[in-house]
Amino acid sequence: MDTTKKNSVYSNTDTSKVTMSEEEWKKILPADVYNIARQKGTERPYSSVFENLKETGTYYCAACGNALFKSDTKFESGCGWPSFYEPISKGSIIYTPDNTHGMERTEVQCGRCKAHLGHVFNDGPPPTGLRYCINGVVLDFEKAKEAEKNYKPKENKE
Ligand SMILES: [Zn+2]
Repeated sequence: MDTTKKNSVYSNTDTSKVTMSEEEWKKILPADVYNIARQKGTERPYSSVFENLKETGTYYCAACGNALFKSDTKFESGCGWPSFYEPISKGSIIYTPDNTHGMERTEVQCGRCKAHLGHVFNDGPPPTGLRYCINGVVLDFEKAKEAEKNYKPKENKE
C-alpha cells in the first residue's frame, strides 16, 4: 500500500479554498478517504473509531485539514456514525440539498475543499436540534493539549 502520498493542500490553519481536479485528489488521498470525500461514499455503520471516542479535542477534514467540529459538540446518537450538533464555525461546512436514494436530505461538505462529509438531520439534541451524521473516515482527530483541556475560563465578575 502506498502510504507516502503527499497532500500539499493539507493544513489546519490555511483557510483559503481548495479547488482541485478529481484526478489530483485521487493522487493525494488514501483510497478510503477519496471514496467518501470525492465519490460521496458512506462507511459501514459502527465502523469508525471516532463513533465512541470521548477524548477532548478537535475534528478536522481528512482531505484538507479544515477544522470542522469540537469534541464538546459530539454526542451519542446511536446511529452508527460520529455525530455532532454544531460545526466549529458557520463557514466550516457547506450545505447542499441531496435527493438521491429517494430521500430528501441535506448533504454536508467541507467548507474549504468541498469533501463530502455526511448529512445533517433535524433530530439532534439542544441547543441546535441538529444531528450532523459524519463519516469517520473523512475526519482527523487531534487531542487537546493537557493545558488547554484543564484550562477553565475565569468567572466573569462585574
Ligand atoms: Zn476539506
